[in-house]
Amino acid sequence: RKRVVDEHEQLVHAIAELDVKAEIKDFSDLPISATTAKGLDASHFKTLTDIQSKAVPLALKGKDILGAAKTGSGKTLAFLVPVLENLYRQKWTELDGLGALIISPTRELAIQIFEVLRKIGRYHTFSAGLVIGGRSLQEERERMGRMNILVCTPGRMLQHLDQTAAFEVDNLQMLVLDEADRIMDMGFQTSVDAIVEHLPKERQTMLFSATQTKKVSDLARLSLKDPEYVSVHEAA
Ligand code: ADP
Ligand code: MG
Repeated sequence: RKRVVDEHEQLVHAIAELDVKAEIKDFSDLPISATTAKGLDASHFKTLTDIQSKAVPLALKGKDILGAAKTGSGKTLAFLVPVLENLYRQKWTELDGLGALIISPTRELAIQIFEVLRKIGRYHTFSAGLVIGGRSLQEERERMGRMNILVCTPGRMLQHLDQTAAFEVDNLQMLVLDEADRIMDMGFQTSVDAIVEHLPKERQTMLFSATQTKKVSDLARLSLKDPEYVSVHEAA
């Protein structure tokens, strides 16, 4: 009997075969789902930026990532594409609960990330939400229980983890800390540590910043496992 190989299996195989040094140029050359590829195409993203071509293949392979590249270099897609793909390959559904948590230092940045996620993820069926305050805890709480991907600020997220009994994070697969340098500069280390305490230890963690500071490596030590260091330096 002929064996039918579905897209998910093909992706798992292609990712295992992927050479992380192969400097992939276009999103169409990455082993990603047709659903994400279509979202990227519809958003007019064709060529990967430097940080994306270094980080995305490693992230697709499930590595923890510590990425540094200056503002404007395209760090958002460097983590959003792997987030979508990780959950897609696992056939994540609403019933599986929260699969990915993205922490941002400010509400404004969280909203920006959420908008990019909605653009490139438009053909996926995942539910995604923002947890940045600005509405009642109760209102946020009711919606959060149904979310697969959340973009949050540290203080508000911790408030929910401490106070929302029914909020389940036991299935979480991925944690992203965006602008980790600013998270530290703004004094969120304790909140982030407390959030991480609530999360399962078996997960993929990605940490991105505009700079490689000592404070970021403190945060990295706490939340990353044997990370791949990825950075882009400006040409001299
Ligand atoms: P960073 O987080 O590193 O500051 P962003 O992810 O916000 O950078 O991206 C900066 C800008 O570059 C955004 O306007 C974004 O739409 C654009 N961008 C990101 N990746 C690509 C890409 N692969 N191709 C074209 N434009 C991109
Ligand atoms: Mg950014």
